[in-house]
Amino acid sequence: MTLRDEVTQLLQELIRLDTVNPPGDETKAAELLRDYLAGHGVESELYARTPERANLVARIPGRGDGKSLLLLSHTDTVPANAEEWQVDPWSGEVRGTEIWGRGALDMKGQVAAEAVAIASLAREGFEPAGDLVFAACADEEVGTGFGLEWLCEEHPDAVRTDFALNEGAGERIELFGRIFYLCSSAEKMSSPFRLLVHGRAGHASVPGIADNALVKAAPLIERLAAYRPELRLGPETAAMIEAVAGRQLEPAEALQLARENDQAAAELLEPLLSLTLSPTMISASETRNVIPHLCEVDVDCRLLPGQTQDEVEPVLRQVLGEGDYDFEWVDGRGGTRSELGTPLWSAVESFVAGIEPEATVLPVCVAGFTDSHWLRDAFGTVAYGFFPARTMDPQLAARLIHSADERIEIDDLELGVNCFRHAAVEVTGGG
Ligand SMILES: [Zn+2]
Repeated sequence: MTLRDEVTQLLQELIRLDTVNPPGDETKAAELLRDYLAGHGVESELYARTPERANLVARIPGRGDGKSLLLLSHTDTVPANAEEWQVDPWSGEVRGTEIWGRGALDMKGQVAAEAVAIASLAREGFEPAGDLVFAACADEEVGTGFGLEWLCEEHPDAVRTDFALNEGAGERIELFGRIFYLCSSAEKMSSPFRLLVHGRAGHASVPGIADNALVKAAPLIERLAAYRPELRLGPETAAMIEAVAGRQLEPAEALQLARENDQAAAELLEPLLSLTLSPTMISASETRNVIPHLCEVDVDCRLLPGQTQDEVEPVLRQVLGEGDYDFEWVDGRGGTRSELGTPLWSAVESFVAGIEPEATVLPVCVAGFTDSHWLRDAFGTVAYGFFPARTMDPQLAARLIHSADERIEIDDLELGVNCFRHAAVEVTGGG
């Protein structure tokens, strides 16, 4: 059987196991992977906080004198509403050149490609200098402490490595007429906050006797919308600008250049230069004829890697100005980065040079949270997001993730297997 057929079949089997989170039930996927890997001589261990939510960690032990690499993934998926789909979301059906089903892109495709990479290396007798590890984790989509966060705390030796490849990027894009593959090396910190605007209740037919909290919230929301945060250049964004423009630019200059010449470049760049604020939810009175004494406004806020809530809060309070409200952070997750110019970065570059010599690997900071954060935070692991995709249009892929008719091109899946095999050999020194 070819690697292409092998990864196709494994992905189909993974999609057919419903691991929608909640409740997850990822043990089904962990057991399938354990049996598959065992068939090719790779030992694995299941680690579970509760029996039905196992994480799988498999390893080809190194000789002990090289760098270790973790191929990381998650086996849970978001839900799927079958009525919106053209096929059964858990069918794993092959249609033309694609495999369809929930998780095909996010991220059972990468699970399967990583598993086939380690299994195929093992049966070829691969003997790395450093450990080659594969982890298929539970509970990434909801993040309630059953997956990698828990593994890093309870079984750190199982997942501590020098380097890691995970989800996050890998798409092939064109900017200014040139070809780039995105590789994520950092992520913004998800840092939502809530405003509790206070007033005084009253009957809505006599507005003069009350103090309407909803109305008082309006100017605060407008001030947030009008705010233009200070632009800043992190190392990965500076490297990205230099790779595209051919020289270093000030952030405002880079943004202007992108806006004038390439809309896609502007959309990619803008959120990487500052924190972002988007008021998204509001609640006030539950009854139309009662003037609300309280109005809650929830704001999606993402900080740059390295930016802290302590540093940002006084700035936001100044933007909001005086008023009868309380400000509270709802959460704060992620916001870590890995350095560039490492052996893993070189491995990604040499892989891309092999498949498309005229293309350049572009470092990118992603807006969303990934499990890479836990590794960087716990062990200082250099973690990148890279799962190469050159056949499926990246805009289509972005639309399909977490949505109906999710599917992956088999060409991209096969490309992923080759990518992870290449990275494993380059980084763990088994060549
Ligand atoms: Zn994912």
